Amino acid sequence: MEFTFTQEQQALRQELADFLDRELTPEFMATVDYRPEEGLFSKEFSRKMGQARWIGVKWPREYGGRGVGPVEGTMVTEELVSRRAPIGYHYISERQFAPSIMQVGTTEQKAFFLPRIARGEMGIAIGYSEPNAGSDLANLQTRATPDGDDYIINGQKVWTSGAHRLDYIWLATRTNPDVPKHKGLSVFLFPLDLPGVTIRPLYTMAGGRFNEVFFDNVRVPRTCMMGEKDQGWYVVAVNLDFERSGIERLAEVRPVFEGLLELARKVARDGQALANMPLVRHRLAQLEIEYQIGRWMCYRVAWLQSQGKSPNYESSMSKAFGSEWGQRVAQAGCQLLGLYAPLTRESRWAQVSGEVAQSALSTLSDTIRGGTSEVQRNIMAQRGLGLPR
Ligand SMILES: Cc1cc2nc3c(=O)[nH]c(=O)nc-3n(C[C@H](O)[C@H](O)[C@H](O)COP(=O)(O)OP(=O)(O)OC[C@H]3O[C@@H](n4cnc5c(N)ncnc54)[C@H](O)[C@@H]3O)c2cc1C
Repeated sequence: MEFTFTQEQQALRQELADFLDRELTPEFMATVDYRPEEGLFSKEFSRKMGQARWIGVKWPREYGGRGVGPVEGTMVTEELVSRRAPIGYHYISERQFAPSIMQVGTTEQKAFFLPRIARGEMGIAIGYSEPNAGSDLANLQTRATPDGDDYIINGQKVWTSGAHRLDYIWLATRTNPDVPKHKGLSVFLFPLDLPGVTIRPLYTMAGGRFNEVFFDNVRVPRTCMMGEKDQGWYVVAVNLDFERSGIERLAEVRPVFEGLLELARKVARDGQALANMPLVRHRLAQLEIEYQIGRWMCYRVAWLQSQGKSPNYESSMSKAFGSEWGQRVAQAGCQLLGLYAPLTRESRWAQVSGEVAQSALSTLSDTIRGGTSEVQRNIMAQRGLGLPR
């Protein structure tokens, strides 16, 4: 077993770093739409990434990718997110919907969606959760009823990230209410501006905008169905594994952690540098140990994928660990900064770019969205340890 990256992999990371050095100028970053918890968002940057072929690097070449593996894909995400690249417009489509389209899409669906995602011209929202279907997702009640060559959709989704500024929705619906709940689901992919779709804002305490999306007799052609009718549960399950295995939860908090390291070196308390205090040093060292563990968990998932496997409990493990690490960094930051912690970037007294309190609020939802930590632990217990359901 060798825990190093090959020369080709390091060269790819360097090529991306050079691209980011050129593009992420302070002038450009000042124009980027930044909203807490929603991610950095720039359609212009997504298009530039598409033009430079940085979207879908791990996809096969026939779909517009570079044909490199999942390990390289993880490296690219780590570099992008830790450098604060504004990838919010295309990232979810690239991370989880494109692979599902490759897996279950028809030739026409692949030809329509994949090039648009690769060019950074299409953002897709995740339409899974409902008021009574979160952890128990198979309980979802949004109905899709056949009507000639179309389906009529009625129901409600909740927490739909980005629905107010993305183009399409990947919607899980119930197409057969007369079979066990996991068996009667189907997925549709269609534009969010169809008649009958209403999007209402839902704000979190961190200030991020999420949405409730209502479907009132929305007519979609049958050709919008992704995969087989009533087989949607399997499409969703594989899709969630792609969502959970990402390195972005660690990478997005890494700059906050590095800000804390710098603060500890720079700031003195009672005449002693914070960095010299055993309690502080050990806390930071512990966080670094955990970061490295979390990082290798993500690369292990990518490596398993590169071996043709479909890591499932391994993805859950990395999701639970990465999202909880982010919360531990934010807590450590609040304790280190004391009364400075709540100051945001607008304050001239702010420390660590005013991100610590923001991070404490934003990282709270990381152990909920994409499946709660309890759900990830249930998956690990059952599929990883073989414990009963
Ligand atoms: C900021 C944010 C963004 C989101 N973005 C999206 C999105 O874009 N698209 C989307 O579809 N959804 C999204 N979600 C929804 C998210 O996936 C759900 O909130 C999550 O799956 C939990 O479901 P729930 O909120 O219904 O809580 P519940 O399922 O009601 O859970 C409540 C509590 O009970 C626990 N619990 C439930 N079942 C079990 C069990 N079997 N064993 C042990 N404990 C259990 C849970 O862990 C949790 O602590 C988002 C959520 C948030 C907060």
